Amino acid sequence: MSNTTFEQIGQVLREHQHFAILSHVRPDGDALGSQLALALSLEQLGKQVRVWNEDGMLEKYSFLPHADLLTKPPATAEDFDVAIALDTAIQNRLGTTVAAVRSAKIWINIDHHLSNPGYGDLVILDPSAPATGEIIFDLIKSQGLPLNHDIAENLYAAISTDTGSFQYPKTSGRTFEIAAELVRDGDLDVGKISQQLYENYPRRRLELLRELLRTMRFTAGDRVATFSLSLKTAAKLGVLPEDNEGLIDHLRAVRGVIVAVFFEELTEGKVRVSMRSKDEAVDVCAICQKFGGGGHSLAAGARIRGSLAEVEEKVLEEIREVVKRGP
Ligand code: 5GP
Ligand code: MN
Repeated sequence: MSNTTFEQIGQVLREHQHFAILSHVRPDGDALGSQLALALSLEQLGKQVRVWNEDGMLEKYSFLPHADLLTKPPATAEDFDVAIALDTAIQNRLGTTVAAVRSAKIWINIDHHLSNPGYGDLVILDPSAPATGEIIFDLIKSQGLPLNHDIAENLYAAISTDTGSFQYPKTSGRTFEIAAELVRDGDLDVGKISQQLYENYPRRRLELLRELLRTMRFTAGDRVATFSLSLKTAAKLGVLPEDNEGLIDHLRAVRGVIVAVFFEELTEGKVRVSMRSKDEAVDVCAICQKFGGGGHSLAAGARIRGSLAEVEEKVLEEIREVVKRGP
């Protein structure tokens, strides 16, 4: 799956001093946890590490060990030996972090997105991995890099969130083995981490869900379920972009639904589309790629120009075509 070995990456990590670790805009637990884990491991080796994301650390992940290491990129660019993109399907999704890297001798790309074209000098791409955190774990273990409690907790959070708490189809025996090793060797408190991840939402997230359910629609013989969020409603509720992560699962969880879609109106006349499939025969990554997006076969997204109504119509038409051909 990858054209670079862990040994090559390990050698580059050992031989250099200044690192930038970056991930995608609108980050999730896998992006942030993987970044922090790798950064902490490199710091243990005495390396200088910057950890940047366009959106900075999200409030809901600020419990992660050493969350304060992760910041928005600075206005003044810096020079690096190595820049590492984690969990980022296309370079463009690194957002403003790229401009803060004035130079890097080597670009490393470590990811698990099917749609990743393999940008960068050294590339580890494993679409079979359910989380980038799993690849970082393998890198750390295979190269004998430092792994302590804080690193383990970040990796556990990355893997737990990107597998939907060890539920999604790419969750394998290996995933459980890795989790077991992290819990045992890192002496992790699973109950406490899970509570921080899944039982610590602000009340406005539920208020948002209530509004989204008001817009819920079922089409294509109830096999496609959608809801949408307008800028007006988002402003009325005072929600943050991070509040809607995971709400689409309520649509996917309905019996008979194959495709779930969430439409979120953005500023600049665009709509963020988030798509989930419950059936390998319906590849939502392929659908999103038609609109310039990407992701995984069962979870993908795109940002599409147009009004909410226009984008909804265009996207639903495309989905209906695929679902019609489907099972
Ligand atoms: P989500 O729906 O949770 O935002 O994203 C689902 C998956 O699709 C994630 O793995 C994410 O990286 C990917 N994805 C979401 N939006 C985009 C996009 O605009 N472009 C690309 N290439 N991938 C996206
Ligand atoms: Mn991921």
